[in-house]
Amino acid sequence: MGSALNKKLITRVRRHTSPSYLKKLHWHIDYLLANSEIRISKSILIPSSVREECILAQTIKELSKEEVLGFGSSDCNCNSHLFYFGDNEPFN
Ligand SMILES: [Zn+2]
Repeated sequence: MGSALNKKLITRVRRHTSPSYLKKLHWHIDYLLANSEIRISKSILIPSSVREECILAQTIKELSKEEVLGFGSSDCNCNSHLFYFGDNEPFN
């Protein structure tokens, strides 16, 4: 928990789990979480010394039913970083 990267990860998660009225809406996830019908049910933290977000997104895509095109991927070449699983949520 001592590395700068892990502190950055914790800061990011705290930001995402804070109420929307306390933050400026910046990322796609901010706008999604501003909807009162949406809530975070689970967070899986994967500390790493390299950026693995896109690799993880491609792996999760394989498990999903659909992807929300362009969501969370405006700064990379992925189709999406948001996926729909229906009733088959794989991370129970
Ligand atoms: Zn990506």
